[in-house]
Amino acid sequence: MNFSPLQTNLVLTDGQKSTFFTRRLLMSLSLLMSGVVLLSMLMVVGIAWRQNESSIRQESLLLHNGWKDRRQDLMKNIRDYAFWGEAWNHLHLNVDTDWAYDQQNLGPGLFSEFHYEGVFVVDGEGRTRYSVINGQLSDLPVESWLGTHAAPLVRQARALLKQESATSTNMMIGSTPAIVAAAPITTGKVPGLKTRAGMPSVLIFIDRLTPEKLRDFGAAIGVANARVPGSLQDAFITPFINEEVADSTPVVIRWDSDQPGRNLLLILLPMLFAAAVILGLVARRVVNHAMHNAMLCDQRFLLLMHSQRELAASEARFRDVAETASDWIWETNAQGILIYLSERFTAVTGYDVEQLLGKSIDDLLQHDTQPVSGWIFQQREEHHRQTLRCYSVSAGGETRICTLVTKVVEGNGQIAGYRGTVSDVTKEVEDQARIHYLSQHDALTGLPNRLYMSEFLLGRLQAHPTAERPLVLISLDLDNFKPINDTWGHAAGDSVLNEVSLRLRSVLKAGDLVSRQGGDEFIVIVSDLANEQEINNCCRALLNEICRPFYLGQQEIFIGASMGIALAPKDAMQAEELLRLADIALYKSKREGRNRWTWYSPEMAEHLVLRREMERGLRKAIVGNELRLYYQPRYGLKNARLDGAEALIRWEHPDKGLIMPDKFIGLAEETGLIVEISDWVLTRACTDALTWPEAMYVSVNISPVEFRSGNLAKRVAEALARSGLAAGRLELEITENITLENPQSALEVMQQLKKLGVKLTVDDFGAGHASLGYLKTFPFDGMKMDRSYMNDFPHCSQAASIVEGIIGLGKAFALTVTAEGVETREQLQELQAIACQEGQGYYLGRPMPLERFSLLLNEPVTLGIRKQPV
Ligand code: C2E
Ligand code: CA
Ligand code: CA
Repeated sequence: MNFSPLQTNLVLTDGQKSTFFTRRLLMSLSLLMSGVVLLSMLMVVGIAWRQNESSIRQESLLLHNGWKDRRQDLMKNIRDYAFWGEAWNHLHLNVDTDWAYDQQNLGPGLFSEFHYEGVFVVDGEGRTRYSVINGQLSDLPVESWLGTHAAPLVRQARALLKQESATSTNMMIGSTPAIVAAAPITTGKVPGLKTRAGMPSVLIFIDRLTPEKLRDFGAAIGVANARVPGSLQDAFITPFINEEVADSTPVVIRWDSDQPGRNLLLILLPMLFAAAVILGLVARRVVNHAMHNAMLCDQRFLLLMHSQRELAASEARFRDVAETASDWIWETNAQGILIYLSERFTAVTGYDVEQLLGKSIDDLLQHDTQPVSGWIFQQREEHHRQTLRCYSVSAGGETRICTLVTKVVEGNGQIAGYRGTVSDVTKEVEDQARIHYLSQHDALTGLPNRLYMSEFLLGRLQAHPTAERPLVLISLDLDNFKPINDTWGHAAGDSVLNEVSLRLRSVLKAGDLVSRQGGDEFIVIVSDLANEQEINNCCRALLNEICRPFYLGQQEIFIGASMGIALAPKDAMQAEELLRLADIALYKSKREGRNRWTWYSPEMAEHLVLRREMERGLRKAIVGNELRLYYQPRYGLKNARLDGAEALIRWEHPDKGLIMPDKFIGLAEETGLIVEISDWVLTRACTDALTWPEAMYVSVNISPVEFRSGNLAKRVAEALARSGLAAGRLELEITENITLENPQSALEVMQQLKKLGVKLTVDDFGAGHASLGYLKTFPFDGMKMDRSYMNDFPHCSQAASIVEGIIGLGKAFALTVTAEGVETREQLQELQAIACQEGQGYYLGRPMPLERFSLLLNEPVTLGIRKQPV
């Protein structure tokens, strides 16, 4: 057992109390028990001791009295012999040994019968006249036994003559205790006996208690092993008695006490000890058991506390959840009568909880086809979560859609009731409907989107359209829509798109579909047009609607549309294929000048095939070295000097001969081949320019696609490095459209290019739709006026003033202005007149192979350029 020391200021946790108090109680009990056992042992020892004491007292008394009796016997016997006339005659008047010893009057009989070891007769002069020792006649004097004590004793006995009395004393003779009695010899009762002068004779008897005699003496009175002590120390060991002795060694007798107490101890102590041990063992078991129980009790208490805390936490959790959840919690009895509603109920429904408790759950929740309680009663499976979509009317009269979840409450194997939650899912349901709608409709125009259209088209195709009643699919793309966004902003573009969708819808009948595919592309699906005429009428109506002016505030805007038509089952019966064919037809409309509709025909697909062939050929051309660079000279008009040349690509097709860039650059851009082509052009142009005079530059056309591909600056740097041309001699021609698409990234690329040291020029200035603001923002060095401005120049004064205006604008932005498409002498002269810095055109020089251009370098500049007046 492990008792911890008691501490007065002990702080006990709940899980220690029982153990502690049990331990304390058990310790007290154990102490008490030990005390009782010890006390009883002490008492037993005490009783034993007292018994021993009283036994010794009694034995002492016995011994003492026995001794006294023996002494008195001796006295009595000596008197009988001393106060006797015969003794007077035969021992005093005359010592008659014959009478005394031989006739056995005072002879051996005293020893054999009375065990008197010494018998002496001392005469009036103090001489020993008769002595019998151990029954044998002897001539030893009494002094040989009594020493110096003999004389006083004799004297004392003589003094007793008159009283006729005897005296006795205790004495140690050697190491033997003895009782010595002495008496004067008198005539006794016998009258008339002779006398003798002098002192009377004295008779002395000595009863010497030899060890055997002493032991027998003790035994006779019930005292064991009576003996003379062996030493002085022994003389003082209890039990002993000390018989009084005058002026001599004391007579001490020791014996073995009966010691009844010892027996008591011998019997009781082992029994008590055994009892204590048994008690201890039992106590140990009891304590262990009790401690174990106490510990169990504490553990259970702790567990109980713990589970109580858990329960409290769980209750709090439930309460918090019930109060904070958007759902409310309900419980009914087995009959569907509400017996609990969480606090949240009021917040959600507006009703008071008290108002509804005791009412049927049907008063609260409704379902279209069955009473809610009926549904609840059907729920049996205990662990299965059942849900029911139902509705309730809030206190405010609003109908809310709810999801009811229920669970059976069981008690004693029977259904005690039902409980569950109700979630208000009105918003989710509405949101879902909205999401569904949004997923199928275009957010801007509200028209069905691509997804909806696909499903619709599939549905229509599954209805098996016939040649008489074909399914008409029209792919419609707005023309000139992009400039609206660019010029008027996206809000304007959005409102135009909305208006377009309204107008398209107005043309169609119910059951037809117009969907927005994204951007300015639409798909129209019409089903009950009987013939080509009707289809054409429909397309015309659509086009007319779109060609009507749109109004942005006061502004009148015109756009157009291109359409492509594909029919099912004539052209295809698969949705994807039908869409693709309509797109092919649309593509043709676009190419053929827009604002028209085109019926799909198989030749169009053939055209596409040709395109694909061309793509393959172009790939081969790149690796097969079929590309050529032509150089068109660019002149400084002020000094009539050849400043540089524009590199223009040609494809020397093995079969088709020289193919112009207009025919394949677009395709290269679409397929991404342009990057590889441009790399070749850049390197070739830079390498070629190295052979020209150092003052001359080469300009290279860069496609907008390359701006998007992300590594233009790196590629240009590599071309420069490969060729070794100084960056300042390379000019890049970029159309203004790149400033529209992603102005920020375009600006970054241009800044990187500027860092390399190359020049940047706006190509075909005025042909695109960019606003003029970009001239300020983007780091251009020059602008090339689109060659269309030369059409009516210089004879038309309006054209002349526009050209003049552009040149002025370029100068205002510190840009070198190059007039492109100079075809006549007048144009050249007029451009010189209005101080256009550079010119390029057939009149000045057509694009030519490098060899021809190299010849040009050495020719004097004629070409009719006149020097400008300084
Ligand atoms: P561009 O950059 O505007 O190039 C000038 C075009 O106008 C060239 O046609 C040129 O032959 C033509 N031209 C020059 N002077 C006159 C003239 O006085 N009157 C008329 N009517 N035309 C003139 P080309 O070589 O067919 O190039 C067409 C377009 O192809 C170029 O237009 C350019 O945008 C593109 N292109 C040419 N080479 C490359 C190239 O290496 N890379 C890229 N990305 N595009 C190129
Ligand atoms: Ca160009
Ligand atoms: Ca140009």
